[in-house]
Amino acid sequence: MPGRLENKVALITGAGSGIGLEASFLFAREGCKVVCADINGKAGVAAVERITSAYPSSAKFVKVDVGKEADVAAAVAFAEREFGALHIVFNNAGIMHSADDNAETTEETVWDLTMQINVKGVWWGCKHALPALRRAGGGSVINTASFVAVRGAATPQLAYTTSKGAVLAMTRELAVIHARENIRFNALCPGPIRTPLLMDFLNTEDKKQRRLVHVPMGRFGEAIEQANAALFLASDESSFITGTDFVVDGGLTAAYVTPE
Ligand code: NAD
Repeated sequence: MPGRLENKVALITGAGSGIGLEASFLFAREGCKVVCADINGKAGVAAVERITSAYPSSAKFVKVDVGKEADVAAAVAFAEREFGALHIVFNNAGIMHSADDNAETTEETVWDLTMQINVKGVWWGCKHALPALRRAGGGSVINTASFVAVRGAATPQLAYTTSKGAVLAMTRELAVIHARENIRFNALCPGPIRTPLLMDFLNTEDKKQRRLVHVPMGRFGEAIEQANAALFLASDESSFITGTDFVVDGGLTAAYVTPE
């Protein structure tokens, strides 16, 4: 049985942890060559070791700070040089700053850093991938937004929420612009997921319960559940899907009152 991403090459940012790590492993399992990009060299190298021990020669690490345009451009060039082409980009790296709060308390430095990584990082990932995707005859780009891009929260992280709203709007417009070039753009909108990014932030049982009451399934999602969605959006199975806000959230955005 050929894999679902046989003969494809993917660039995945934030591949050292959480959703990016699970997606990198899953994509490799499906026959894809994966460029694992992360700012954390140790985590990125460990990710590639784990993947290649299961699927030899399927992954390579490149150190990238998505908040630096030159790094992002170099990662795209690396993918083409090492694996011959680029078909899939998963712009997944993102941060949630611990000092991100409401309109009055959030420092400008926190705001700017969040935008630099979460918004400019995604823009640069799209900008530099486009010529490579054209050379490959088309492709699929998945940008990680969040459910907070479509629902307000009384537990504020204003810079983060704003950045994810920008990712959603950017992705939709790119999808429309490039639809006739066979380049698809979709936004993945995860609900609350049990990864270091969220669990470091929700560091007490009270904070966790404050969120969980709103999730009909009554649990946090797992990184692999986002990776499975990313795999679908990356593969040709989603060939008529572009410009979507692809929500994977345990029913959170559909809920008014949840079961007891
Ligand atoms: P995570 O913290 O587990 O992993 C993020 C990875 O990105 C880490 O390996 C980190 O080193 C890397 N990274 C951070 N800054 C980077 C930079 N400047 N350049 C390159 N790599 C960088 O996080 P996760 O939960 O897997 O989140 C992945 C994406 O999903 C993020 O965009 C996040 O905003 C989004 N998301 C997460 C949740 C959640 O509940 N976990 C919900 C909605 C959206």
